Amino acid sequence: MDYFPVFLDLKKRRCLLVGGGEVATRKGRMLAKSGAVLRVVAPEISNELRELVAQHNGELILREYQQGDMEGCVLAVAATDIETLNQQISDEAKQINIPVNVVDTPALCTYITPAIIDRSPLMIAISSGGEAPVLARLVRAKLETLIPMSYGKLAQLASRWRDRVKARFNDGDSRRKFWEKILQGPAAELAMNGQLDQADKILSDEIANEDASLTQGEVYLVGGGPGDPELLTLKALRLMQQADVVLYDRLVSDGVMDLVRRDAERIYVGKRRSEHAMQQENINQLLVDLAKEGKRVLRLKGGDPFIFGRGGEEIELLAQHQIPFQVVPGITAASGCAAYAGIPLTHRDYAQSVRFVTGHLKDDSINKQWPELANPTQTLVFYMGLVGLRDICASLIAHGRAATTPVALIERGTTQQQRVILGDLATIADIVASQEVHAPTLFVVGDVVRLHENLKWFTGSSENPLSAR
Ligand code: SAH
Repeated sequence: MDYFPVFLDLKKRRCLLVGGGEVATRKGRMLAKSGAVLRVVAPEISNELRELVAQHNGELILREYQQGDMEGCVLAVAATDIETLNQQISDEAKQINIPVNVVDTPALCTYITPAIIDRSPLMIAISSGGEAPVLARLVRAKLETLIPMSYGKLAQLASRWRDRVKARFNDGDSRRKFWEKILQGPAAELAMNGQLDQADKILSDEIANEDASLTQGEVYLVGGGPGDPELLTLKALRLMQQADVVLYDRLVSDGVMDLVRRDAERIYVGKRRSEHAMQQENINQLLVDLAKEGKRVLRLKGGDPFIFGRGGEEIELLAQHQIPFQVVPGITAASGCAAYAGIPLTHRDYAQSVRFVTGHLKDDSINKQWPELANPTQTLVFYMGLVGLRDICASLIAHGRAATTPVALIERGTTQQQRVILGDLATIADIVASQEVHAPTLFVVGDVVRLHENLKWFTGSSENPLSAR
């Protein structure tokens, strides 16, 4: 180990910063953030640094550094490009035992600064000992995506309850178990979402609970996106990794399922057309039952849970039973398929609005909408429309939309098997009928479809003979 890691408390302590350029400003920003009082010495300084000094009641000495300037300081930073001056500052600091950092010159430093991930009060510092700073930064970027922004709030929750928990559990082992449970349970999720009052309530219930092994379950209603697992949100991934049990249906791709915690129990709840593995009411009830058993239940849905996903119904019952839940949006099929097919859903020249429509013609409300749907400046995206494709196209034409309006049917969008079949309102039904088509599919109607030819970029791994039409 070449360096000893420490975290310094610089609050209200004077720190010397020599230099006024960009690098010095960056250093000044960090020092000010940790509450240091800056003494900046430089003939010229940036406006931001000037502002920082003023905001934190620091000192500004507008001239070259002189011996003695570091008196009364607990830390020194040299950010100048004058080598002899850097050397002088380093020597002087060493002499009076003040930790000194000379930017980008490890040989002159008695301490180095790490790359940091700031989730205050949680703080992660990464260092390569000055040997490979870019590598340290890459590690940092990786960790940034793994550690939720909201972890700071979690640490705040722990700090608020620290003493009370200590008083309740006097042996270290049960205290650790208690915290492990809390920090991975509903109180933690509430705190991370900023609902501290409710989190506090759970903690006080848990503390009052004689049998501390009883746990409160919760439900995560998560949008798994249209197929490509890389389109998951960070929050979705985090909750997928901590769930005890997952309820999923056919729309959730294998690639997405692969990212669910390995040892989580998996329950398939179906929802194929005409094959309802489980009735909606039973799914709703199962979510309640599992949560009441104390489980962290992941309800994983394709796309976005609130777009043709019946997500609202699933959480209604949870709300009735006062089971904590959260909803995580996902990329809906329309956005995913349009992006991966190179079809912008709106475009200043072609479409001023976009509408997501259910193609379930049984749903009577669609019949009333035909006149509005025929508006030529509006892009339409039909979900669940394959069976009704022919009728939908005919109705649009009957209500005045041009028969030559282009249509793209996108099959298994965003996956390696994505395929785009092109036609227009008059021809698409026949073209599709002559193909073997695999679910899920949706279709986009509108002049924006013309842009596909120039903007297509994603081909997946299968041949796409028709997309070149
Ligand atoms: N909640 C989902 C939609 C559920 S309805 C979402 O927001 O995307 C199911 C319909 O979504 C399917 O019939 C199909 O029209 C569409 N769909 C979902 N994933 C798709 C995909 N990868 N490619 C094409 N269409 C898709």
